[in-house]
Amino acid sequence: MGPARQLRQQVISGECSAEEILNQTLEAVTRHNSRLHAFLRIDEAQARQQARQIDDRRGRGAALGLLAGVPIAIKDNICTRWGLTTCGSRILADYRSPFDAHVIERLLAADAVLVGKTNLDEFAMGSSTENSAFGPSRNPWNPDYVPGGSSGGSAAAVSAGLVPLALGSETGGSVRQPASFCNLTGLKPSYGRVSRYGLVAFGSSLDQIGPFATDVADLALLLQVIAGRDSRDSTSVELPVPDYVAELEQPLDRLRIGVAAEYFGDGLDSQVRNAVEQAIREYEKWGAEIVEVSIPHLRYAIACYYLVCTAEASSNLARFDGVHYGHRTAERGDIIQLYSRSRAEGFGAEVKRRIMLGTYALSSGYYDAYYLKTLKVRRLLKEDFDRAFARVDVLISPTSPVPPFRFGERLADPLAMYLADIYTAATNLAGICGISIPCGFTSQGLPIGLQLQAAAFNEARLLRIARAYQQHTSHHTRRPELPR
Ligand code: GLN
Repeated sequence: MGPARQLRQQVISGECSAEEILNQTLEAVTRHNSRLHAFLRIDEAQARQQARQIDDRRGRGAALGLLAGVPIAIKDNICTRWGLTTCGSRILADYRSPFDAHVIERLLAADAVLVGKTNLDEFAMGSSTENSAFGPSRNPWNPDYVPGGSSGGSAAAVSAGLVPLALGSETGGSVRQPASFCNLTGLKPSYGRVSRYGLVAFGSSLDQIGPFATDVADLALLLQVIAGRDSRDSTSVELPVPDYVAELEQPLDRLRIGVAAEYFGDGLDSQVRNAVEQAIREYEKWGAEIVEVSIPHLRYAIACYYLVCTAEASSNLARFDGVHYGHRTAERGDIIQLYSRSRAEGFGAEVKRRIMLGTYALSSGYYDAYYLKTLKVRRLLKEDFDRAFARVDVLISPTSPVPPFRFGERLADPLAMYLADIYTAATNLAGICGISIPCGFTSQGLPIGLQLQAAAFNEARLLRIARAYQQHTSHHTRRPELPR
């Protein structure tokens, strides 16, 4: 399937109908999804109705939206009025949302065709989709390897060419890391850029919905549609939304790229290091000035992130008690037993671990030592980035310290899994924006991703800088070979 911008042109010109494109998507899903398990569910009736409406409106000469007839996949923690929204959890296995998320309303208004909901680590907690209650997704580049997580289903769907675009969500890297593992372009927008209304909350001060695409030009189109103020999310900002698509064409002068040694320390895989260092040399060759900067508090980012996100999760997930929301146990007993059995049966091991960690960090006697302290560290980390972005436009680094790993490799050791978030979690803590773009392959043919981070609400320039790389290189154009 071609890029989204091309499909849109075909629909608008009448070369292809939205329904024909949908049929191609459904065929590809039938062929590949049982192996990849990217989609948890396809909402065919809903998608067909949208596609026919678009074709009808075109027939009547109506102007069509920015994503006219473009099929898109949605992570299953984003609420849709049709079908289910499970969050990859048994506790929400039959949950039907009474409303659409803000981004869903925007996509429908832009004439996108919403194909189905994708797999994720339960409540977006994880880096591999192995924590999904419904079984993991597979990496289209090699099905023995994880696609990354938590938005692994969305990444696998775009990477395998089932759809050109998808939405994921980020709390600490869940769009950028799977983008890196699946050779895609994935963005964590600045905190407040995209409304969280209808995104099931994990860590509310970190969460942000983010787009996946095969290149920056398509990603800009999707960001254009979802960005902007929504009064139902009080943390979404009033700032005007730039024309991201048009801004891509602006010239890039006086580009300063920051390199911080903290992103190239112990534990960085040598093939990842080589690919990213090569990219830095290339930017320099094209005229960028490379500036050494420092993010001294990055070493605390994992500890800080896993305190903030678990504390917020323990509070956010309190609503799933079998009464307000979610699975209710058959063995009721008294009210306490009802709560505890429903939660024990409904939540998986990682979610329970995080609720317990977060409850501990917030409990009296420990609050000051852990939670309050981590908020101070978070502030210091943000100031590190402020200082760096006073001198450079973007920071360049690997997205993940390691290439895609095998199923089970990190599952038994939660700490090893957490450490893989070392380069992404700080972006969310600081509220800034970050993008992952393809920058090479390992000797086993697995994708490697490069991360660029910029100051909050600097998405337009960030995208332009990422685009420059894609104009000079072809890593992002490679697609995995799928069995027929
Ligand atoms: N891997 C990180 C975690 O497990 C990030 C998850 C996310 O961004 N949703 O929390």
